[in-house]
Amino acid sequence: MLKSCDKLAFTNNNMQEFFILLSGFALGFFYFKMNEKKISQKNIKENIIVSEDLIISEKKVLDQIPNQIIIINKEKNIIFANKSAEERFEKNIKQKHIAEVVRRPEFLEAIDNVLRNNISTVIKTEIKNPTYQVYESYIFPSPQFFLGVKYSVFILMRDLTDVYKIQQLKSDFVANVSHELRTPLQTIKLGLETISQGHGKDDEEAKKNFLPLMHQESIRMENLVNDLLTLSKIEQQEHIRPSQKINLQEIIEYVQKFYQESLLKKNINLIINLDTDNANVTGDKDKLIEIFSNLISNSIKYSDAKKNIYISSNKKTNDRLEIQIKDEGIGIPQEALPRISERFFRVDADRSKKVGGTGLGLAIVKHLIKQHRGEFKIQSTLGAGTEVTILLPTYSEH
Ligand code: ADP
Repeated sequence: MLKSCDKLAFTNNNMQEFFILLSGFALGFFYFKMNEKKISQKNIKENIIVSEDLIISEKKVLDQIPNQIIIINKEKNIIFANKSAEERFEKNIKQKHIAEVVRRPEFLEAIDNVLRNNISTVIKTEIKNPTYQVYESYIFPSPQFFLGVKYSVFILMRDLTDVYKIQQLKSDFVANVSHELRTPLQTIKLGLETISQGHGKDDEEAKKNFLPLMHQESIRMENLVNDLLTLSKIEQQEHIRPSQKINLQEIIEYVQKFYQESLLKKNINLIINLDTDNANVTGDKDKLIEIFSNLISNSIKYSDAKKNIYISSNKKTNDRLEIQIKDEGIGIPQEALPRISERFFRVDADRSKKVGGTGLGLAIVKHLIKQHRGEFKIQSTLGAGTEVTILLPTYSEH
């Protein structure tokens, strides 16, 4: 009993202490909790400030990147587009659904794959409207919190349109060259088969017909190979600006001599009227010969007999000389003029081939004039004639 009383007494004494302790502890705990709440509120507040700063700097960084960057939320609405994406697609694409900007099914599927399965994808994305564009798109999940948004999809697009266009040009060019070479080769092959085998073997008439044709076709092939080599050489040297002092009168007279036979054959007059005091240009002799050869030979090729070709010059400014080559030939239809200096473009392919044309002459002229830092213009009236105007830098001693 005593034991229990003692125990009770002990308990009673200590109960008081216990309650004091408990209330102290409760107070302490309450105070701690209060402070803890304050601390966490402070932290949250600081976090928000830090996050806003972070978002601004994240956006700034993304705006500096030349690739197109679009970030979308779970609903596939655009929450951010960097400057480059806005310039490429449209201003204010934010809040639009991504399908309104890029409509390709494979692109949208890749986004679904990120959202559903967290799988990143790299895909080729072709956009056909308003112009043809090709991108390599990297589609992947953003970090959990990015630009202040939980779960978003990051789309980085690398523009490969120029690369694809160059590849396309290259393969078109190879296809064109093969086609251009194949036709004369086939004629030569057929001619050789006819006069060396079967009935044509002893047929003098067949030989008479085929030999000149084969000769003409082999010249065409040679012209084509020469023009192709010239073009590739020009392309390699396009950045090197010619610097010699060249007298155009001499160049044109040299070319005139070269075409004397063709001019006489067609009874065409070449009338040269240059301002001899101002005939010096800054250029490259061989390249200027190539330019005037192509232009004069075109005027001869595409003119009927007994016509005139006029070459005149006119000093435009102190540093530019304008030269005109005007013929009274068949002319060029207006709709063909914008494409006239494209490789292998011809108004009438049969006529061009018959006169030994390769379809590369004006492309060569355009490149060479560009290399001289000059200008090239062509005007024409169908049935009346063509006028080519070129501007070349004049030569100055200083
Ligand atoms: P080609 O070797 O066929 O003459 P070019 O590149 O020199 O190739 O010229 C391209 C086409 O432009 C020619 O096929 C021809 O149809 C047209 N052309 C060029 N010059 C003249 C001209 N002076 N008169 C009429 N047509 C021309």
